[in-house]
Amino acid sequence: MIRDPLDILQSVFGYPSFRSPQDEVIATLLAGQDALVLMPTGGGKSLCYQIPALALPGTAIVVSPLIALMQDQVAALMQAGVAAAVLNSSQTAEESRAVTRQLLAGELDLLYVAPERLLQDGMMNLLGQVQISLFAIDEAHCVSQWGHDFRPEYIRLEVLHQRFPAVPRIALTATADEPTRQEIRRRLGLEQARAFISGFDRPNIRYRIDQSSASSRERLLRFIRNEHAGDAGIVYCLSRKRVDEVAAWLAAQGVAALPYHAGLSSEQRELHQRRFLNEEGVVIVATIAFGMGIDKPNVRFVAHLNLPKSIEAYYQETGRAGRDGLPANAWMLYGLQDVITLRQMMEGSDAEEQYKRIERHKLDAMLGLCEMTGCRRQALLTYFGDPEPDPCGNCDNCLTPPQTWDATVHAQKALSCVHRTGQRFGVNYLVDVLNGKDDERIRQFGHDKISTFGIGKDLSLNAWRGVFRQLIARGLLAVDAQGHGGLHLAERARPVLQGKEKVWLRKELPVEKSGKKSRQTSRFVSEADTRLWEALRRCRKELAEEQGVPPYAVFHDATLMELLAQRPQTLRQMAAISGIGSHKLEAYGQIFLQLLAEHDDDGGGGARHAVDPSQTKEETLALFNAGMTVAQIASHRNLRENTIYSHLAEAVANNQAPLAEVVGLAESEIERIVAMMDARDEPGLKPVFEALKGRYDYGVLRCIQAARFPVS
Ligand code: ADP
Ligand code: ZN
Repeated sequence: MIRDPLDILQSVFGYPSFRSPQDEVIATLLAGQDALVLMPTGGGKSLCYQIPALALPGTAIVVSPLIALMQDQVAALMQAGVAAAVLNSSQTAEESRAVTRQLLAGELDLLYVAPERLLQDGMMNLLGQVQISLFAIDEAHCVSQWGHDFRPEYIRLEVLHQRFPAVPRIALTATADEPTRQEIRRRLGLEQARAFISGFDRPNIRYRIDQSSASSRERLLRFIRNEHAGDAGIVYCLSRKRVDEVAAWLAAQGVAALPYHAGLSSEQRELHQRRFLNEEGVVIVATIAFGMGIDKPNVRFVAHLNLPKSIEAYYQETGRAGRDGLPANAWMLYGLQDVITLRQMMEGSDAEEQYKRIERHKLDAMLGLCEMTGCRRQALLTYFGDPEPDPCGNCDNCLTPPQTWDATVHAQKALSCVHRTGQRFGVNYLVDVLNGKDDERIRQFGHDKISTFGIGKDLSLNAWRGVFRQLIARGLLAVDAQGHGGLHLAERARPVLQGKEKVWLRKELPVEKSGKKSRQTSRFVSEADTRLWEALRRCRKELAEEQGVPPYAVFHDATLMELLAQRPQTLRQMAAISGIGSHKLEAYGQIFLQLLAEHDDDGGGGARHAVDPSQTKEETLALFNAGMTVAQIASHRNLRENTIYSHLAEAVANNQAPLAEVVGLAESEIERIVAMMDARDEPGLKPVFEALKGRYDYGVLRCIQAARFPVS
């Protein structure tokens, strides 16, 4: 007897409907076929095998490379009332015997196993004695020898198919380009598997990149205070020394910051990681040693104080933010010194020349991303092979398009200064020469006599540094292989020096501009909401502590936000909230109802008492007021964006929501559209939509229309 997947989704996990393509993946497995699933982080991969595991008779065996991750998943499943267990090397013999007994007794729906353990003879024999519903191979890209997460044991997982040919298998990953996908198929014997490829985009992450400065630390603090007070986040730095320094400084400023790097003892690392997972609002300051296997869904920001060495690394590191699908920030400051340091590290390694060349290209691509003036997400998705993504509207360049200036003459001056000084000096020296600095060293080299001495007084030292940095990022100048920071001309400098090509550079904004507060993360409108939110989080934390699980295993942030927005008064109303299945309802329902009742006079923006599920507009408005964007609400409620817009249009007409925030457009842009509407007599939005060449959704236009004719 196969149980209905939708019924399991609703009753066990408390979600109203499947996200595409979860239902199809599940159907494939239930039909006894294999599947290969590529979904971005936070896309919802786990349910693709957890639901079939519950629907089919027998135990599902889940292979996963990371112990911490497995334990997390099992804890979360047990919270939902699912019979799940884990076998790994960190257990005592007694513990693993107990699990083995459960397995043999057919009591487990899911068993998580590390690959090396799975491949042991004893384990294989054990599996031969029980009914297996399916094999799930998580993080399947670990079979790829070319990837950075290569696990030799993964290659041997093909044996599963040979030993248990009738058992369906599913391989899942978030990070596979086409060659890696082929490798997964080949190595795991999944040539026939049906593929479900969902792209790479992480629409809830806002990308922002800016130049570092002497005040980088202060800017980080401002960013955390303005946009992420009380949130969990990760700050990446290049060196251990910098990690220690930044963590200590943030802590002294009142941020709950902890360091993490390979130089700390393993006890300390473990402690800091555990605090990050189990407490609210801990900021981990780390080298890239931190992150693999961090599955915390509510990491609200990832900040880089240094340049990652490739776009792949940047995407993986920033990808740890916002796994729960709620708005998150990827925020980075970088400077020329980063490029020099990274080059130094690369050239200093004893890798083969061919490998170093690839690394250099990757660093160049990363630099290009930093200095580009177009949509960053578009560039990222294109880099990963998405053919033609649209500009996203959720990165710094889309939100405040950078201005550019014709820097051709300045570029020529800079390039020829490099040439005339012998192509071996670093930026600071070159800038001094251009500014005609009175300097002993310059005189020694005779560079006070060359034609470029003092021809750059029209720009500040800082502005010149910016010019050099951008010329490097665009590949007109190259940093020396020894990594001392000496610059030489690249091939691409030639047409510029010959006057055949123009150079447009981005205008650099004064540092202060970059810390603007954005709606996306100013989460709550009212004090009362903030109070209730804190109370909900506290309650969740206490429940989690009692059971020794992370808070998000009790309820995700999105579920708490919905409790805040809906304020249910009965268990039935509470059951309608996304993320509350029957087991959690039973375990926590009363406790949270009581808490909500205690806060009954905290008015605020919540749709208090408006809990009849048919009052769907109120829910949309409440979620909007709780800080979700239209896209967020649509995906959270599993409604179309258009539907959400129509709810919000009504709110706009009733003066319950500010138009500019609903549509996310500048006033001037709105005025332009209103003028077009005013100029047309025809009814309906279609003519305007077409005149605007479809640049704005009907939903957006509907809201603008609503604002033209307010109800009162
Ligand atoms: P991944 O493994 O792909 O990174 P997860 O399986 O951890 O993603 O799921 C990400 C988040 O989305 C989790 O919080 C999960 O509970 C939630 N989720 C998954 N499927 C659904 C669904 N159909 N409806 C609502 N939430 C879902
Ligand atoms: Zn963009």
